[in-house]
Amino acid sequence: MSPRGTEHPPKCPCCGSPQTELKHRLRAFDVHRCAKCTLLFRHPLPEPESLEEMYEDARYHEGRYFQNSAKAYDLDAPEIRIYSAALAELRRLAPAGRLLDVGCGRGVFLDLARSAGFETSGIELSKRHVDWARSQFELDVVAGEFLDSEHTPASFEIVTMWDFLEHVIDPIAVLNRARELLAPQGLLLVFTIDANSLFNHIADLLASASGGRIARPLELLYDVHHNHYFTRRSLEQLLDNQGFAVAHWASHRAYLGRWLNEPASPALFLGGVVIDRIADVVGLPYRHTAICRRT
Ligand SMILES: [Zn+2]
Repeated sequence: MSPRGTEHPPKCPCCGSPQTELKHRLRAFDVHRCAKCTLLFRHPLPEPESLEEMYEDARYHEGRYFQNSAKAYDLDAPEIRIYSAALAELRRLAPAGRLLDVGCGRGVFLDLARSAGFETSGIELSKRHVDWARSQFELDVVAGEFLDSEHTPASFEIVTMWDFLEHVIDPIAVLNRARELLAPQGLLLVFTIDANSLFNHIADLLASASGGRIARPLELLYDVHHNHYFTRRSLEQLLDNQGFAVAHWASHRAYLGRWLNEPASPALFLGGVVIDRIADVVGLPYRHTAICRRT
């Protein structure tokens, strides 16, 4: 028996296809790829009970990712500009209404959404984040698991998920729950990274050309907090299957300074900045925002 229990190829957790293959054997877990929808996914998945502990870990909270979240946050930071552009698009598609941010973190997006005129609520697993969102921004945020939340069906015009869907155990259940909470014709925003980015292609190439010796870029890309690594194709197919029609699509650079929490050499960092620029030109971006309408 394989030490990681992968003696039977797992079915794709998003499209159900049995046509999957082991793609990467990383230090902490294996990554499989679906030949049909092109999703990459961790297998086996972590225990749901372990997630809460993972998201209360001090190292997770002290990372660069959450640094620009004090009350006077920098409006020119790349992630804030992405939030602002998405809010302008949401206002165009749904000029007002109730907005729920799922996995709202420290509440910066909700603070911006409230300023843009939306009636905001949030839900977040990490109690430390919830405390921050309440004390810094006085936001209406509850702590807990989205699938068990007490929100009323059809009570939101907009549901947003920033850097959330790749973290969950069951993306289909999460999208079904979002659909249930949305009013007819409501909007869902999903922001996630793309496992078909130029970064992934280069990390793959480095690992395979070196016989596995240069695995560091690959290990960085397959974040231990993520369970599903969407490609644009697999995300579009999943959204379509769960009853969402894409109304707006935007792609974005990686902006390495934000997510590179692990120590990395200056050469790796500089190389990353160059790849980030080239990815624009060759059309293999690092991440996407999809805004969809509930059909
Ligand atoms: Zn699939």
